[in-house]
Amino acid sequence: MDLRDTPEQAQFRAEVRAWIDVNLPADKRGSRGGAQRFDDPFMREWSKQLYAAGYAGLTWPKEYGGAGAPYSHQALLYEELAAAQAPPHIGVIGLGMAGPTIIAHGTSEQKARYLQPLLAAEEIWCQGFSEPDAGSDLAAARTRAERKGDVYVVNGQKVWSSFAHIADFCILVTQSDPAGPRYRNLTYLIVDMHAPGVEVRPLRQITGEAEFNEIFFTDVEVPVENRLGDEGDGWAVAMTTLLHERGTLGFALTATLDGMVGRLLEEAQGRETSELMREAIAREWIELQALRYTNYRALGTLERTGIPGPEGSGVKLRWSEANQRLTKLARELRGPNGILDDGWWNHQQLRSRGNTIEAGTSEVLRNIIAERVLGLPKGR
Ligand SMILES: Cc1cc2nc3c(=O)[nH]c(=O)nc-3n(C[C@H](O)[C@H](O)[C@H](O)COP(=O)(O)OP(=O)(O)OC[C@H]3O[C@@H](n4cnc5c(N)ncnc54)[C@H](O)[C@@H]3O)c2cc1C
Repeated sequence: MDLRDTPEQAQFRAEVRAWIDVNLPADKRGSRGGAQRFDDPFMREWSKQLYAAGYAGLTWPKEYGGAGAPYSHQALLYEELAAAQAPPHIGVIGLGMAGPTIIAHGTSEQKARYLQPLLAAEEIWCQGFSEPDAGSDLAAARTRAERKGDVYVVNGQKVWSSFAHIADFCILVTQSDPAGPRYRNLTYLIVDMHAPGVEVRPLRQITGEAEFNEIFFTDVEVPVENRLGDEGDGWAVAMTTLLHERGTLGFALTATLDGMVGRLLEEAQGRETSELMREAIAREWIELQALRYTNYRALGTLERTGIPGPEGSGVKLRWSEANQRLTKLARELRGPNGILDDGWWNHQQLRSRGNTIEAGTSEVLRNIIAERVLGLPKGR
C-alpha cells in the first residue's frame, strides 16, 4: 500500500499550507489551549475563517454547508493545522459530535436549522451525557424527559459538560420511560441552553481553569421537534455520537501529538540527556508512527462505510496515555524548573490527566477493543 499523497492530495495539502501561511498570525500559533481560548476573540474569528475557506465540515455534504471532500482530505487538513500549531475550531463538540449526529438522525428541518451556524462558529454546542451516577454507564442516565403535549419537560442534572458555559445548544441524553427496558428507554434531545430552567455552574479542573460544568434542568420545556430520532431510540442515537467522538477525532489527536513530539524534541536539543531519557523520547516518536498507521486503517474503514469503526477507540486510548507520558517527560527534561514553572508544559501535563477519562475511560476503551476489535468473549 502506497501511503504517500496522490498528486491531487499533494495539491490540496499545498493549498491548505499556503492558506494557513497567509491567514494565521505567528503570535497565534502554539497556544497552550485551555479556558483562556474562550476569552480571545481571535478564536471565534479563526473558526469563522476556517468556515469561510471551506475547512470547517470539510467532509460534510455541500447542502449542509460542508465542502463534500473525501475523508483523506480531512486527515491532511488536520496534519497541516497541527504542523502550523494552529488553534482548533472553537465548536469542537458541534463539529465532532452534534453535527455528525444531526446529519445521521436529524430531520431536514433540523439539518437546515442547526448545521450551518455550527460550522460558522455562530452557535456553540455542548454534550450533556454524563451524570453524577451515570458516566461510563450512559444507559443509567436519569435526567427525566416527560412528554406533555408538544413539549418534553426536562428535569435533572448533567456533569462534566465541556463548554456548557458558552454553549447555545446541548445534545442531551434523557430518560423518557423509567419503567421501560434498558437501552430502549432513552430519548435524545437538542436543548436550547438559553431556555428558562437551564442553569450552568462551572467546575474548576486540576489546571485551575473551568472548562467544564454542571448543568441543572428544572422544568425545561423542549419542543418535540427538537428530538433526534424516535422516542426511546436515544441509546442508538448516542452511539452515533460516541462513534464519531472517538472515530473521527483520531487524526486530530495524532496530529496534535505530532506537534507535541516536535516540541519535545526542541526541548531536548542542546540539553544534556541521559540514555534513558533519549530512549524514552524515541519511544514516543515510535508510538506516534504506530498511531499514524492505525489512523490510516481507520480511514480505510471510514472511506468504505462512511461510519467510524471501533479502531478509533484504540487511537484514543494510545493517544491519551502517550500524551500523559510525553508531557511528564518534557517536565522531567526541564529539571526542577519543569515542576516549578507555570508554563506551557505544566499546563499540558495537568490537562492530560483528564485525557484518560474524557470520551471513554481507558478501562472502558480496553473493553471495547477486546470485545469489538479482537472478538473476545464479553466480560458480562
Ligand atoms: C476533561 C473532561 C471533559 C469531559 N467532557 C464531557 C462532556 O462534555 N460531556 C459529558 O457528558 N461528559 C464529559 N466528561 C465526562 C466523561 O465522559 C466521564 O467522566 C467518563 O465517561 C467516566 O464517567 P465517570 O466519571 O462517571 O466515571 P465512572 O463511569 O463512574 O467510572 C469510574 C471508574 O470505573 C471504571 N469503570 C467504569 N465502568 C467500567 C467497566 N465496565 N469496566 C471496567 N472499568 C470500568 C472507569 O474506567 C473509572 O476508572 C468529561 C470528562 C473529562 C475528564
